[in-house]
Amino acid sequence: MTTTPVPICGQHRILKEWRPTTFEYSDEGVSVRVPNVYAWVCPEDGEASFTPETVDELIVTVRELLDTARRARKRRSVLTEYFVSAGQPLPVGSPA
Ligand SMILES: [Zn+2]
Repeated sequence: MTTTPVPICGQHRILKEWRPTTFEYSDEGVSVRVPNVYAWVCPEDGEASFTPETVDELIVTVRELLDTARRARKRRSVLTEYFVSAGQPLPVGSPA
């Protein structure tokens, strides 16, 4: 199904697994979590390596979410956490 070699965790010397993980990012006290993101994950410590395509997508999404959170903070909103879903996560195979 794939010709991509499975990456190896440089720290633990084991093959990483292609599975969903949670992308986390924080900036200036605002944090963003995106669950169900497929990435190469080290089974030992859960460290994820995201593919360039996924990172491109995440950058756009995270930027929009950070803007939303910053605007809420500016108007001193009491709503400080949000969960957003855009449909079911797709069953994703290994990157081609
Ligand atoms: Zn590792």
